[in-house]
Amino acid sequence: MDTIRIEDAPHFVGKEVRLGAWLRNKRGSNKMQFLQLRDGTAFFQGVVAKEEVGEDIFAKIKALTQETSMYLIGTIRQDDRSPFGYEMDVKDVTVVGASEGYPITPKEHGTDFLMDHRHLYLRHIQPFATLRIRNTLIAATYEFFNKEGFIKLDSPLLTSSAPEGTTELFHTEYFDTDAYLSQTGQLYAEAGAMAFGRVFTFGPTFRAEKSKTRRHLTEFWMIEPEMAWMKQDESLEVQERYIAYLIQAVLDRNDYELDLLGRDKDLLKSYTQLPYPRVSYDDAIDLLKENDFDVEWGVDFGSPEETFLANHFNKPVFITNFPKEIKAFYMKRDEERDDIVISADLLAPEGYGEIIGGSERDTDYDYLEQRIKEMGLPVEDYQWYLDLRQYGAVPHSGFGLGLERMVTWVTGEEHIREAIPFPRTMNRLKP
Ligand code: ATP
Ligand code: MG
Ligand code: MG
Ligand code: MG
Repeated sequence: MDTIRIEDAPHFVGKEVRLGAWLRNKRGSNKMQFLQLRDGTAFFQGVVAKEEVGEDIFAKIKALTQETSMYLIGTIRQDDRSPFGYEMDVKDVTVVGASEGYPITPKEHGTDFLMDHRHLYLRHIQPFATLRIRNTLIAATYEFFNKEGFIKLDSPLLTSSAPEGTTELFHTEYFDTDAYLSQTGQLYAEAGAMAFGRVFTFGPTFRAEKSKTRRHLTEFWMIEPEMAWMKQDESLEVQERYIAYLIQAVLDRNDYELDLLGRDKDLLKSYTQLPYPRVSYDDAIDLLKENDFDVEWGVDFGSPEETFLANHFNKPVFITNFPKEIKAFYMKRDEERDDIVISADLLAPEGYGEIIGGSERDTDYDYLEQRIKEMGLPVEDYQWYLDLRQYGAVPHSGFGLGLERMVTWVTGEEHIREAIPFPRTMNRLKP
């Protein structure tokens, strides 16, 4: 007899098989029991008829409790009425691990309760679907950058310096000195680009975000590609190709998960149409003012502005050339205007906000040294970075994509905490 996983069921129609699964729930009568089963690959139903299995086995099955793990023996049957399309006619069950008093019952629970029980809640439909889509986005990221000739560069998580200011940094002791948890791999990616041409970092980043928004975690995963010999225009093309590749990968591989989440697949498909609009920051400010937003040139956008701008175009939109003062020190100056930098944020529609931040990097040693001083950062800590301008600097551009922002958008989740297995926020360090 074959031992299968639920996702293999379509290949075993009419066959007797053995399956290891957990019991999510069950219902039925004194004659029939319907077992809601899961094994990590899919959800489906086992049907038990007293007439078929006899009194003893039926009584044993009827007494099973939620989240009991077991081996089931039975025959796979196609059933177009069930969401998965297949069911099992169960002949017998062997309990592997008992389960008493499982806390997440079929009734509705509040978010805090579910997050307190995240280690168990992972087993349920919504995290299952969302985190499998996350997995596709991770796999597709490696595929895309490998295809485009990038190598993955691992940047350090313990650092001595603070590229974007210290307010959001987690501090830790490091023997007899201080260290910070990395908030970006950006500067290291630039060093990598000068060595390997095209690199991407992909790892956890840390920010002591004091704001409680639907979009900010204190620990999140970022993908930061950096390309030597590349100006910003070409970088925007890489970015939109990458986003379209990610969305197409999810459409191709996660049909089942998107249906479990009730995500609009036609809408997702529309986001694979390139190019995305490019709108200058100046024009964005005008557009916002025309639509009664109280904004002045020079401010960074918050959630209402970002939501309005992307929804206005009904697709992801690049906002380009931000004011210098609200961006990181390394962004390239505009040749004609001293008050803006060659930068762009990609905003997602449907209220998901900033997905990517990126820019061309300035290559002038003296300018960068002066910017570092102006920002009040210790120049000694950045000497290695300035070296990159001393020894054969070339035009280069890069960007950072927040993985959980992407997951939240693609899955249509309402809050970024759903997009990572064990979320870390201002109020949550457990489980
Ligand atoms: P925001 O304006 O939303 O606070 P940011 O401009 O501070 O984001 P960047 O420094 O540009 O963020 O980081 C690059 C990307 O990392 C962002 O575009 C976003 O996708 C993601 N990101 C930034 N901060 C967070 C966070 N706290 N939690 C999850 N993802 C984040
Ligand atoms: Mg921020
Ligand atoms: Mg921002
Ligand atoms: Mg940004």
